[in-house]
Amino acid sequence: MSAPTDAQRMEKIVSLCKRRGFIFQSTEIYGGLNGAWDYGPLGVELKRNLKNYWWRMIVHERDDVVGMDGAILTHPAVLKASGHVEGFSDPMIDCRTCKAHLRTDQLVEKRGIKQCPNCGGKDLTEARQFNLMFETHVGAAAEESSVAYLRPETAQSIFVQFKNILEMSRKKLPFGIAQIGKAFRNEINPRNFTFRSREFEQMELEYFCRAEEGMKWLRYWLEERLNFYENIGIPRDRLHAREVPDDERAFYSKGTYDIEYDFPFGRQELEGVAYRTDYDLRQHQKASGKSLEYFDDETKERFIPHVVEPSAGVDRTILALICDAYAEDQAPNDKGEMESRIVLRFHPRMAPIKCAIFPLLKNKESLVTKAKEVVALLRPDMTVFYDESGAIGRRYRRQDEIGTPFGVTIDFETLGEKDPALRDTVTLRDRDSMKQERVSIQELPAMLRECIR
Ligand code: ATP
Repeated sequence: MSAPTDAQRMEKIVSLCKRRGFIFQSTEIYGGLNGAWDYGPLGVELKRNLKNYWWRMIVHERDDVVGMDGAILTHPAVLKASGHVEGFSDPMIDCRTCKAHLRTDQLVEKRGIKQCPNCGGKDLTEARQFNLMFETHVGAAAEESSVAYLRPETAQSIFVQFKNILEMSRKKLPFGIAQIGKAFRNEINPRNFTFRSREFEQMELEYFCRAEEGMKWLRYWLEERLNFYENIGIPRDRLHAREVPDDERAFYSKGTYDIEYDFPFGRQELEGVAYRTDYDLRQHQKASGKSLEYFDDETKERFIPHVVEPSAGVDRTILALICDAYAEDQAPNDKGEMESRIVLRFHPRMAPIKCAIFPLLKNKESLVTKAKEVVALLRPDMTVFYDESGAIGRRYRRQDEIGTPFGVTIDFETLGEKDPALRDTVTLRDRDSMKQERVSIQELPAMLRECIR
C-alpha cells in the first residue's frame, strides 16, 4: 500500500474525529458556522487532559506562578491601550471576479502579477485593513458608548489585574500569572480544520521579571515549553523553535520564538514565546492613570516589570496531538489473521479513556459481575469504558481507534476456574505493542495510575 499523501491523511483524521466524537463542525444540522467547532464526548476529555496538565505544570507544581480567570467581555479602553483597536488587523483584498475575500498573503503571483488563488482573476480591490476583533454591545442601547469586545487574547486581563494580584499574592519578581480561556478573532479565512478558528482557547502565562533578565527567561520558557510538548507525547524532532526575525516581530518585542509543528498541511505555529518587554503594563499605566509599578523592598526601587509570554493554543495543540497519534498498522483479528487497524497512539496522560474493561462473554453473569467490580475499582482514578458486546478482537479495535492505552479482559482464569493461583488476575493489553500480561486486580489501580499521571 502506498503511503497516503498528507491531504489524504488529513481527510482521514477529520473523518475519524467526527465518527468517534472528538470534533464536530459547529451547527452542522443548519449547514455549519464557519470557524467554530464543537468538541464531542472524547474531544472534551482530551481537551480537559491537556488543560489540566498545562495548569498542573505551570501553576500547581511551581511556587512562582498563580492563576486567574478573566472575563471574555472586554472594555474598549483595555484594547485601545494595548493597541488592538488600532492595529489588530489583517490587510484584505476582494476578488471582483469570484467575490472571494482574501488576505493579501494568500494571493498568488504569476509573472509579477497578483492573482486570486481561487479563480485566477486579476481584477482585485485595493488592500484595506480588516480588524479581527468581534465587537458587541453591552446593555440595551446599541450606541458608541456601549461597545465591548470579545477578547482577542487572554493576556490583557492578566495585565489589567496585575496590581490586584501582585498585592494579594505578595509575590516577588520573577513571578507569573497564568490563564486558560476562550479568545475570539474574526479570521478572514478560517481553515485547516480547527487550526485557524474564529473561536478558540488559549493557555497563556505572563511571566514578570526585571528588564535585565528578560532574555534569560525567554530562553528558559522556550525550553520549558518544548519539554512540555514532549511530555504530552509530541517528539522533539517534529517540533521546531523558529526565532522570529526582527521585521516580523511585534515592534515592542525584543525576542520571539514560534514553536512550530509539522502538521499534515505543513509546518505551522503551535505556540508563541515572546519577550514583550514592559510594553503592555506601561500602556495600561499610561491610559488608566493607575500605577502598575513594582516596589522592590530590598533595593527600594520602583519600576514597571518586563514580561515573557508563552502563549499556546488549546485547539492547535489538540489538533497536533491527534495528527501525531494517528497511525495505521496491522493487527490480528480473532481468527489470527492480520487486518489493518487505525490506532491513535496518544500518550496515556492525554488519552480520553484510560482503560477499557471487557468481560470475555456477556452472557456469563460471573464474568460480568467481576468486570463491573473492576470498573468500580478504577473509576475514582481514571476514565474507564465498559464494553461487553462483540468479539474481543473487535472490542480492542474500537478502543485502539480512540487511543485507549489499556484494555483489561476478565476471563475464566479470573474466576479461578482453571487454576486457583490465577484467581483475581486479569489480562492487561497494551494498545501499541498489543502485548498481554497477567496482573492481579489488586495491583491494577496503582500500576495504571503511574502510567497516566
Ligand atoms: P497566526 O500567525 O497563526 O495567526 P498568531 O501569531 O496571530 O497566530 P498569537 O497571537 O501569537 O497567534 O496567539 C497565540 C496562540 O494562540 C497561537 O500560537 C495559536 O496557538 C493560538 N491561536 C491564535 N489564533 C488562532 C486561531 N485563529 N485559531 C486557533 N488558535 C489560534
